[in-house]
Amino acid sequence: MRLFISEKPSLAEAVAKVLPGAVRKDGAITYVGDDAFVPLAGHALAQAMPDAYLPDDVPLNKKGNKIWREQDLPIVPTTWIMEPEARLQRNLAAIEKLLKTVDEVVHLGDPEPEGQLIVDEVLHYFGNRKPVIRLLVNDYNETKVRQSLANMRSNDAPEFRAWYRWAYAQSHYNWLFGLNLTRAATLRARALGFDGALTVGSVQTPALKIVCDRDRAIETFRSVPYFTMTARIEHANGPFIGMWKASDEQAGLDDAKRLVDGSVAKALTERLSGQIASITDYEKAERREGAPLPMSLNELTVAACTKFGCTGAEVLEAAQKLYDRPLQLTTYPRTEVRHLSEAQHADAPEILAALRKNLPAMQGVIDRTDPSLKSSAFNDKKVDGTSHHGIVPTVATADLSGLTPLERNVYDMIVRSYLAQFYPPAVFMQTKIEAHVDGERFLASGKTPVSLGWREVYAPVEDDAAAASADADGSEGKQHLPAMAQGDAVTCAACTLQSRETKAPERFDESSLLKAMIDLHKFTTDPAAKARLKEGKGIGTSATRAGIISELRERGFLEPLKGSKTKFMTSKSGRGLLDALPGPVKDPTMAGMFKIALDGVASGEISYEQFIERNVGFITKVVTGLRTASMNLPVAPGVPCPKCRSGQLRQLKSEKGPFWGCSNFTAEPKCSASYPDQDGKPNFQMKAKPAKGFGIKKVEVA
Ligand SMILES: [Zn+2]
Repeated sequence: MRLFISEKPSLAEAVAKVLPGAVRKDGAITYVGDDAFVPLAGHALAQAMPDAYLPDDVPLNKKGNKIWREQDLPIVPTTWIMEPEARLQRNLAAIEKLLKTVDEVVHLGDPEPEGQLIVDEVLHYFGNRKPVIRLLVNDYNETKVRQSLANMRSNDAPEFRAWYRWAYAQSHYNWLFGLNLTRAATLRARALGFDGALTVGSVQTPALKIVCDRDRAIETFRSVPYFTMTARIEHANGPFIGMWKASDEQAGLDDAKRLVDGSVAKALTERLSGQIASITDYEKAERREGAPLPMSLNELTVAACTKFGCTGAEVLEAAQKLYDRPLQLTTYPRTEVRHLSEAQHADAPEILAALRKNLPAMQGVIDRTDPSLKSSAFNDKKVDGTSHHGIVPTVATADLSGLTPLERNVYDMIVRSYLAQFYPPAVFMQTKIEAHVDGERFLASGKTPVSLGWREVYAPVEDDAAAASADADGSEGKQHLPAMAQGDAVTCAACTLQSRETKAPERFDESSLLKAMIDLHKFTTDPAAKARLKEGKGIGTSATRAGIISELRERGFLEPLKGSKTKFMTSKSGRGLLDALPGPVKDPTMAGMFKIALDGVASGEISYEQFIERNVGFITKVVTGLRTASMNLPVAPGVPCPKCRSGQLRQLKSEKGPFWGCSNFTAEPKCSASYPDQDGKPNFQMKAKPAKGFGIKKVEVA
């Protein structure tokens, strides 16, 4: 008998459906013929919180938790304790029982590192010794599930061990980083009179810093006026507009090579107007452009957020629903791969037939596909060694009327990027002209479509962005360019100056922040870091970034920009937190480098022990630094403590209402002076009953 342990119920159902034999339910177990299925629902085991590792003599607060103390930091578990989740207790008990009797275990986690960990950690917890094989399901459709069942591999395969090491090391790093630094920062802030929690996360905090840096750049931005110059150039075949390009030696330029000197600009137009000139370069060539690759979760999220103004978390949720049972309309969404396997090419006719049924309104564009065309997306070398591929539609047919507008839009986007693979390339005529007028260079370029090809069915969002930036600098005009040849004589009929102003960078919205987290290399000036960050794909993963942004909003660190539906900025508390934290904790480049180190653990380049040791060293240094860090936080004015004379009395909250306690409560020697509150001031006539562990707030850390 085999025991299938799946990451979630829908995955178990999809596999159980294709196996032969009678179905029988017994509590958390579903038997199908000779096989048993027990589903989980995410992590069945949770990392124990710090209390499990702290000594027993740490005083407790009112809730019975050990109080936070500087001397206990950093908390570094030597043996990690896992605690069963109450909601999955029944499932865990069933697994424990079955592991004693089955011949073999089938690991049915999602095909990525987190999914690997979710099932592996349960097997470790029960000290499993039975052989384990790994089943990877990317597509819930029956034929694909059967194929996956025929291709199961040992769970000891290097790919799966690498996934496991990645997720395992990451979970410990996040624990060490988040819990220790949140406690250290909060304790320091509290000693300085701040009544609140300073939550710190290894990806969350650097992401917040990216937004804050941009906000401050905008707020300190001073617009610089400058000029651009165009010329109306007349050729025997017709006129066109050329854009002036300054030479390096040009007088009157600023550091960014913008023409800022008005008198130089005016003199130039006067000198050049009416001059005889010549065409120094003329290029006209047909260009062919193949369809963009199908989308990974990154592209899908950025594109959908840009087009539909939604959040990344909403896109992931929609993509997950399209993939999951009962719809099964698209393949596994949490993929970082865009290519498809060559075997998937043969699926095209069947998928197209399903799309005809699902999307009658798209009949025309589906009919014009040619399933014999094989785009560059179908490439075994590019999907080699990964169990993933780009997100594509499946052969499933379903009633789409129950979909939300966003689910419908996301499906449409996935379908169109798939259909584009079966269209010919887009063809256009690219023209480039260079003219010299009395030693000055003028450029013009144009793009004329010859045939739309795949663009008939799919419009990538990058096009909109490119069009917007082209309009802004006016270089890629939509003008008709006359035919000509190099060496032709022309006249510069008139030169015109345009007054422009440099613009502040844009505030972030969901899609631009997601992009920034991926394209982190664009935000660092260190060339060595740049190259590595690009390779490491920034901070966070495609499956976690959107959730991290949502969390920053929920915590109130990000707030909506007034007058905008999609843009946001850092809040006062978000900035206060960042300013209070030392550089390395919030530096996005450091966070990116950490992720690269994690890839090193997965590949075996560095051991898990080395990785943890290095990070514990770093965290210890930060914790020590935080003990004496100065912080600029909104703090209510304190009252000198009459008892110890060195602490400050601060207004604190208890269940019975406000009271006043000494800031030396956790100091050595400690002062437990406390007074009742009277109209916002300490009442020195009456002694309040000292509350155990006052002001200690439990903070949930991602
Ligand atoms: Zn005191």
